Amino acid sequence: MQSISPETIFRGISAWQKSLPHISKLTKSPLILGRGIHTNNLRNKIFNDLKNQNLNVNSANLKFDCCYEDISRIKNIILTNNNDSLIAAGGGKVLDAGKYIADCLNIPCITVPLSASTCAGWTSLSNIYTKNGQFIKDVALRSCPKILVYDHKFIQTAPSRTLASGIADALAKWYESSITSSTIDDGLVQQAIQISRVLRDQLLIDGEKAFKGEFENKSSWRNVIEACGLTAGLVGGIGGEKCRTAAAHAIHNAITQIITPNKFLHGEIVGVGLLLQLRLEEMKNNNKLADQSTKQLLVLMKELNLPTTIAELGINVFENNNLEKIANFTCRDKSEIHFLPFEINKWDLIEVISNFEQQKIKT
Ligand SMILES: [Zn+2]
Repeated sequence: MQSISPETIFRGISAWQKSLPHISKLTKSPLILGRGIHTNNLRNKIFNDLKNQNLNVNSANLKFDCCYEDISRIKNIILTNNNDSLIAAGGGKVLDAGKYIADCLNIPCITVPLSASTCAGWTSLSNIYTKNGQFIKDVALRSCPKILVYDHKFIQTAPSRTLASGIADALAKWYESSITSSTIDDGLVQQAIQISRVLRDQLLIDGEKAFKGEFENKSSWRNVIEACGLTAGLVGGIGGEKCRTAAAHAIHNAITQIITPNKFLHGEIVGVGLLLQLRLEEMKNNNKLADQSTKQLLVLMKELNLPTTIAELGINVFENNNLEKIANFTCRDKSEIHFLPFEINKWDLIEVISNFEQQKIKT
């Protein structure tokens, strides 16, 4: 079974307003799930708008991450309140937690992304982390969300850093799916890979304008936020599990194992993973284009203020055995790194990462 997309999608500047009659037909007693204080005002608006539709609304917030502690606490709140749907309004972690909880309790999930930082509002996957943000595993859900509300006015209020993160995560779709899946003889997978190529091109052309444009260049901004929040999800939906993530996400998962005082966004870490994946392709697969791609990506990543080394993510790989820890986790048995069409072991990774970080120290 493959769930390609949310059942209904509202998008545009008044998407939330337009979705209200549809939502009130689906649910009588929703729980709104959120997290950060900076999105409080938006969640209050969502709460009041639903109350005005005569719905019996409750709200709850994640305390930590999309982790089992928060998940079981929120599940109990829903069971106590008898909520008949979950509205997840926030970034990737909130959306993932909401989808996972709704799937467990067999109630519909409505996703309302409040930034363009990931495509989690679309997909039928949830990433589970520890309380401290260390990646544990991803879980395939029974379906994509029932309704996705992609309201551009809500997304406009998010810090530009979240847009940069979304761009890095969406760019990874092409670099990861094309290397793991281009030999798969399945038309839908091939078409998904081609969509991810067009998506990458659009981000290379419009990404910087959207990031710096302060909405003046409206069409660039609109195309880029929809590329990050919608098209990236569509690629996963059409390509399904065969259109896989690879080294960039495997390295992201490993980097999250090291707890740092400052938290970085998913796409910010994936971006660094992507640069390392290209180095691995160059070294182990003799990919001559990888260096070209790295240069092209670095220009954009600098313009978007994205980290381009593990050091810039607040981790010194030459301390505390960090290099070994990252290499071991990246190469563990069930890691996505093994979807690469060539063999990788921890020594390859240690070599690539230490060269990569040392080179950056010199420049
Ligand atoms: Zn991702």
